[in-house]
Amino acid sequence: MNNAILSTPENTYEHIAHASNEVAGRLAARLVQETQGEVLFTPADRGRYATDASIYQVIPLGVFVPRDTQEVSIAMDICRDLGVPIVPRGGGTSQCGQTTGAGLVIDHSKYVRNVLHIDAAQRTAVVEPGLVLDHLNAQLKSKGLWFPVDVSTSAQATLGGMAGNNSCGSRSIAYGNMVHNVLGATARMSDGTVMQLGRFDQSTGHAKAVGEFVQQLALQLQPEIDAHWPKVLRRVAGYNLDIFCNQNERPYTSDGSVNLAHLLVGSEGTLAMTQSLTLQLAELPRAKVLGVVNFPTFYQAMDAAQHIVKLGSGSLTAVELVDRTMIDLSLQNPAFAPTIRTALTGDPEAILLVEFAGADKESLKPHMRQLVELMGDLGLPNSVVEMIDDAPQKNLWEVRKAGLNIMMSLKGDGKPVSFIEDCAVPLVHLAEYTNALTEVFKRHGTKGTWYAHASVGTLHVRPILDMRRDGAKKMRQIGEEASELVRKFKGAYSGEHGDGLCRGEWIEWQFGSRINDAFKQIKQHLDPLNLLSPQRIIDPPKMDDTRLMRYGNNYQVIPIKTALDWSAWNVHNDPVTEQTTAPGTGEDPSHGLAKAVEMCNNNGTCRKFDAGTMCPSYRVTRDEKHLTRGRANTLRLALTGQLGADGLANPDVMEALDLCVGCKGCKRDCPTGVDMARMKIEATHHFKAHYGFTLKDQLIAYLPRYASWAAKFAGVLNLRNQFPWLAKIAESMTGLSAQRSWPTWQSDHFFSKQQPGVSKQEVLQSTKPVVLFVDTFNGFFESNNATAALGVLQAAGYSVHIASKDAPSGSQGHLCCGRTFLANGMVEQARQQAHELVNALLPFAQKGIAIVGLEPSCLLTLRDEALVLGLGASAELVSQHAVLFEEFLATENKAGKLDVLQQNLKSAEKDILLHGHCHQKAFGLMPSVLDVIKLIPKANPQLIESSCCGMAGSFGYEASHLDVSMQMAELSLLPAIRHQPDAIIVADGTSCRHQIADGAAREAIHVAQLLSDHLLRH
Ligand SMILES: Cc1cc2nc3c(=O)[nH]c(=O)nc-3n(C[C@H](O)[C@H](O)[C@H](O)COP(=O)(O)OP(=O)(O)OC[C@H]3O[C@@H](n4cnc5c(N)ncnc54)[C@H](O)[C@@H]3O)c2cc1C
Ligand code: SF4
Ligand code: SF4
Repeated sequence: MNNAILSTPENTYEHIAHASNEVAGRLAARLVQETQGEVLFTPADRGRYATDASIYQVIPLGVFVPRDTQEVSIAMDICRDLGVPIVPRGGGTSQCGQTTGAGLVIDHSKYVRNVLHIDAAQRTAVVEPGLVLDHLNAQLKSKGLWFPVDVSTSAQATLGGMAGNNSCGSRSIAYGNMVHNVLGATARMSDGTVMQLGRFDQSTGHAKAVGEFVQQLALQLQPEIDAHWPKVLRRVAGYNLDIFCNQNERPYTSDGSVNLAHLLVGSEGTLAMTQSLTLQLAELPRAKVLGVVNFPTFYQAMDAAQHIVKLGSGSLTAVELVDRTMIDLSLQNPAFAPTIRTALTGDPEAILLVEFAGADKESLKPHMRQLVELMGDLGLPNSVVEMIDDAPQKNLWEVRKAGLNIMMSLKGDGKPVSFIEDCAVPLVHLAEYTNALTEVFKRHGTKGTWYAHASVGTLHVRPILDMRRDGAKKMRQIGEEASELVRKFKGAYSGEHGDGLCRGEWIEWQFGSRINDAFKQIKQHLDPLNLLSPQRIIDPPKMDDTRLMRYGNNYQVIPIKTALDWSAWNVHNDPVTEQTTAPGTGEDPSHGLAKAVEMCNNNGTCRKFDAGTMCPSYRVTRDEKHLTRGRANTLRLALTGQLGADGLANPDVMEALDLCVGCKGCKRDCPTGVDMARMKIEATHHFKAHYGFTLKDQLIAYLPRYASWAAKFAGVLNLRNQFPWLAKIAESMTGLSAQRSWPTWQSDHFFSKQQPGVSKQEVLQSTKPVVLFVDTFNGFFESNNATAALGVLQAAGYSVHIASKDAPSGSQGHLCCGRTFLANGMVEQARQQAHELVNALLPFAQKGIAIVGLEPSCLLTLRDEALVLGLGASAELVSQHAVLFEEFLATENKAGKLDVLQQNLKSAEKDILLHGHCHQKAFGLMPSVLDVIKLIPKANPQLIESSCCGMAGSFGYEASHLDVSMQMAELSLLPAIRHQPDAIIVADGTSCRHQIADGAAREAIHVAQLLSDHLLRH
């Protein structure tokens, strides 16, 4: 069932009631009738909203994406009329299943995200609940302010979700938790009453009555509260009954007043719907210094925390742990390794990141000295790496932030599971607690990786469990034993990530039955109909109820024959050593594809908007469906038959993948390395095998095969660009937009001439050899780039051979990587092309000769997809020598081999703007392009912080994608180009250049052309 069907209330009712049930039908019909919001009730939509970053999965009745607060209210009223439970949701990054529920999920993150008011003088902001923390802080930066509850998920967590969970940041030792930073809230109860929650002594009406009710309970239970309430900063379980008799290490308000908004904080959407929040802002710290303390044992690191927190006279803002496993995983991750190395001295078992913040760096240096002295006193001289400059600090914090996700990149069925992740204990017991818990893990045949907030006694640890097998059983056993330790050390079982499905049952254990009864009364008072997230906090299910789990008892992967080789994921792992078995031994009926898809743990990093490529289609649409996470969930549901028996041929899969531009942003930016671009090839293959290929598919896919023939008719074919009516006819036949120009055919192209360069024999014998692989696009449509590259390489003194088939030179000899076939799911044809290319290049690779390419998506196919097409060792060897033009030159330059070329380049006279092709970025190659441009005297290239240009091969040419394609370009690329009208624009991707021409009416050139233009012609 497609969402387009839900156009009128009547047909909505029919379709939904038929596919789901009567109530769902009525609910959806009324939402369609009474709101403009998005009504998402297909099985795939419901499946995508059935999970969060926890191990749970509960399929909701439906999903509603309201346009504004008013529509949230309407939806709540409809739910009340129909008796349907409501599950409020922000970014869905909760780790305990808070946002999973069987009712109507209301997603605030797409539209309900305005900043309503900022008062810089009073340092307050009023915001809507769907606003993401980083987006708020971006607006506050120019005012020298920020909201300091800096959760690791700051790029995707919403303020409403943070309030729901009483979230806590790395710097909570300085700023407290969410509850310490919320000044007020507007909240709507399930009966429709709207309350203004703020200072109790100033409240009126319903808010006052609620306050009085809770106050009475708190007073009655004061002795119980004093006896049972954990006395740590990090306690987020249950409701904040202690607002009337503070138990927190840090009182909730600075003046001792009672704030009723704090009752809502941490209530996980069970008491009322937050409509707006008033937040206490803080001054942005002007200066920070970071001391990284290296410890020879984990125990010493834990033991030292209690002493370190006494340093800094109020300027200590964080003490964060990174353990050995995390260090090793970071060292193995190409994006993080250089950064983590800057923090290490020797081979530590753990490091603590100790941060001081204040007015200026000078005033902080004495604290750093104190830290060094303290470590000396504790018997650890020379253990502190001092980071005074901002850049290395920032990089290290990024790695620390990604810590949990790095840990999740373990392949195989055993995964680190979050359920005792954030128990908090008083600092004096930290070392003893962590030691004892490590023993618990050992007893149950697993181990935990430790990291996080040592300053406040909250250490994140996730034992590795296999949730498909004995994971739930072990979870129960470990949970029971861990809880005993928490009790022994007088800590809090739920110290950061909330209760949800995972810790609900421990609330009564933690507080005792009388306080738990009081919680029930609060819920009854505020939500008498039990509509808001029922069975969360109050009457929760057992945490190990496998019926509520993503990998529950019935989880089964459909056997499938994959087109690509996914065996690298088809492994088992050892929970203690984390060693994985050989590729292909993981017993996955889909040969590793399902396990690759399951690498997505739903953490939601793909919802970020900051630097990096991932995920352009989400950035434009803000739809869960068009997000890497949504796609991975759709694939998982399809591969396990949860969307029907047709597996990957299910149309919902193609719908979710439709706007994926195959940019590989996720391959690099997703912390667990979900490679959706590759998954799209596989899924397209299965879908097209079932439904067949369109004319457009064939036209694009076979382009390399007919290009030499078509070029002979360049004049005729180019007429399509001159006559709009022809373009319209072409659109109706092919689906390629009439509003786009097509690449211009050249009758006089690179391959039509006598092949330049040296022969195969000559290059094999040369002392300075290089092979140039000229792809279809640069060869047939932009020959100037191929000619320029040849000229530059020759000017640098290389003997250049143009790779070709072993046929006589000429057009029929041109080689192709198979990318156009891959993009259309024609894997067998791609394999033939790649096979031919690999065979042609093999003799050069065997001699260690560099194979240089110009078009990133073509050349890098040799280093990526060509390795999963079953081409064996030859493909491996060729991939090791396949480099982009700029990579080759940058490496040669570092080896001091480009002096001649450099002397032959004239100075740059204009500014140079550089746009990176997504695949260049995915392979971390942008520094090479910058290095190569800097060979030109006086060149000072600026890299445009852009995601995908939106053209992405044929994606942007398609009429159905035109708007999204242009929106992607408008996110940052085109505005940056317009901002500098005189700059030279460098873009190495052929489709990027086309998009820039279409969107900004500016010419962009390949870096080879740039260098060629700056060659001194003698
Ligand atoms: C890798 C990773 C790292 C994390 N690091 C941290 C960390 O450093 N500190 C930390 O505290 N947490 C952390 N978390 C947990 C989570 O990211 C935070 O709790 C975050 O604040 C949740 O925000 P969200 O927008 O995703 O909320 P959601 O998960 O969508 O919702 C959270 C709760 O708020 C409720 N809610 C949402 N909107 C409303 C509303 N309008 N009205 C009423 N209730 C509402 C929901 O029902 C739910 O109970 C981490 C999670 C992951 C996956
Ligand atoms: S795709 Fe990657 S970044 Fe997105 S939720 Fe899944 S694991 Fe996280
Ligand atoms: S390949 Fe690009 S568009 Fe597709 S899911 Fe990954 S980041 Fe998003």
